[in-house]
Amino acid sequence: MQLTKKMTLFSGLLTSLLIVVLVLVGLLSFRHFSIKAATEHTKSAAEIVRVSLTEAMINGVIDKRGNFLARLAEVQNLQTARVIRGPEVVKQHGPGLDNEQPTDDIEREVMASGKPVFRVLDNNAEPVFRGTIPFVANSRGTPNCLQCHQVKEGTVLGAITITMSLADMKENAILTVGSMTLALALFTILILFLLHRLTRPLVETASDVQLAVREALEGNFHERIRVRSQDEIGQIAHDLNHLMAFLEKGLRSIRDQVAQLIQCKPSTQTNLLTNTMEMVDGLVDAAHFKQAIEEDETKLEVYQRLAHVLENEFQIRHYSLYEVANSKNRLYPIVVDSEQESGCRWCDADVLIRSEACRARRTGHTINSIDTPDICNAFRPGDHHEAEHICIPVLQSGGVGSVVQLVAMPEQVPRLSSAITLLNVYLREAAPVIEAKRLMDTLRESNMRDPMTGLHNRRFLEEYVDTIVAATSRRKSDLSILMLDLDYFKKVNDSYGHDAGDTVIKTMAKIFRGCVRASDLVIRYGGEEFMVILQDTSGDAAIAVAEKIRQTVEETRIQLPGTQLQKTLSIGIADFPAHSDTFWQAIKFADVALYQAKEQGRNRVVRFAPEMWQDKEEY
Ligand code: GH3
Ligand code: MG
Ligand code: MG
Repeated sequence: MQLTKKMTLFSGLLTSLLIVVLVLVGLLSFRHFSIKAATEHTKSAAEIVRVSLTEAMINGVIDKRGNFLARLAEVQNLQTARVIRGPEVVKQHGPGLDNEQPTDDIEREVMASGKPVFRVLDNNAEPVFRGTIPFVANSRGTPNCLQCHQVKEGTVLGAITITMSLADMKENAILTVGSMTLALALFTILILFLLHRLTRPLVETASDVQLAVREALEGNFHERIRVRSQDEIGQIAHDLNHLMAFLEKGLRSIRDQVAQLIQCKPSTQTNLLTNTMEMVDGLVDAAHFKQAIEEDETKLEVYQRLAHVLENEFQIRHYSLYEVANSKNRLYPIVVDSEQESGCRWCDADVLIRSEACRARRTGHTINSIDTPDICNAFRPGDHHEAEHICIPVLQSGGVGSVVQLVAMPEQVPRLSSAITLLNVYLREAAPVIEAKRLMDTLRESNMRDPMTGLHNRRFLEEYVDTIVAATSRRKSDLSILMLDLDYFKKVNDSYGHDAGDTVIKTMAKIFRGCVRASDLVIRYGGEEFMVILQDTSGDAAIAVAEKIRQTVEETRIQLPGTQLQKTLSIGIADFPAHSDTFWQAIKFADVALYQAKEQGRNRVVRFAPEMWQDKEEY
């Protein structure tokens, strides 16, 4: 309910109540006053009658009392006056005039009790006051009752019944109370009018404030409140306008700056408040994301965290994260959603071996099929013809380092479109971190490889020995360690030069890799010494592989400038954990076996036997 209506209603109700109370109190007071006045009036009249009757008795004109009483009744407001003769008087002076006997209960009661009775009678709507007052014999004054009446003091000699009209008084009461009520009503109307005038600015300002606040909650801070009066209400309007302008300016500035940060155009249509809050929330989340990925150890962790963000913060179910290989011509699926069996569900597999086939990779632009349908030929949605895709290139070292592919079914398209701006923020944050991690990975990788042969080096072995051993123990499997050393290699250097020696070493590396499985490790242990670790192999199987290597080397003709060369090598084998449950000890045993092979004339494979070590100890 509006404030003015409430005020009018309440003040109307209160004044009505006041009027009713005042009318009641007025009428009751008037009635009380009238009765009191009439009682006194009647008493005076009775006294006059008593004195007059006494005088009449003394003067011997008591017989004329009827005329006297009739004249008394003509006095204003008195209607009738009738005297009643008591039994003692009747006994002494006779029954008196006709109508001087008690006629009703009141008169009989007064005669019996000697006490006056006053009553208000409503006869024919005209209020009448009746008083019946006894004349009691007493000896006070001269003349007194007992001088004429032969009665005891206190005897009720008679009584007088006087009636008088209260009509005038009633009229006066109604007139007074009526005019009082009218005055009060007029006063109330005046007060209501003044209240209305005074509260109008308050009510109108309140309604303006209500509207402005509602608009502000919708993100619109344009609404201003009219300053209607120069008082507290006006001040409130003024202050609120000031606050709105301040908020609008502040929020707009925050939103524009945040929009600039996330590189999107600030929307003027949407709610300024929620829009700004959403953008700030997004930025804060992106900042936390950046902090988390910076502290990640490997680039794979970064990609996995990115995938987690895609799934949990953006609710994107279908996605692939590709990395462009350092050689630039291949694309590797790094992380893909759980529904993909292979790493290339949504694209032509050609992109994996020819990264140029990926449009995002080739152009460095975001490829968006929602904005431009059928933009990419390499997109192969299979049965999901209606699927849309957005492929975002992630720039690293001035080129496309990774490609994030997001796929959406029609019902997911709006969500994907609205997520893209913030997602780009995440990707921009992730790009330099991924780049740094990639560099670190490359550096670590190059540290652990021999640049000449591309084989792992001894540092690699030292770094990964624990992992290798743990994996083998977990599988409850074996490893065979082959130590290989070229026979009389020094001679190559001496006879053909250092370059020829290098060529021989490179050729050996190729032969070793070609003779073992991809899961086996080939390590350039130092100089012309190599180590091959055969996974899940031991005993004769290891000897067979070693023999195959030995034979291949023996049969290989190494092409040198102007000549061909054939070399041999010796191989020592030890099994882990069969020969030793300590990995480094097993290596040592393979070395012991190699020494034996050299001893026995070279170009041969020797498997470690415990007695070789005992010999060594004895030696
Ligand atoms: P053995 O049959 O006893 O193994 O005789 P060997 O001549 O192979 O003996 P040794 O192990 O003493 O000689 C290894 C030589 O290999 C010494 C070193 O000059 C040469 N060498 C080591 N690394 C390289 C390399 O990277 N390139 C070239 N060209 N020579 C190397
Ligand atoms: Mg050697
Ligand atoms: Mg050698």
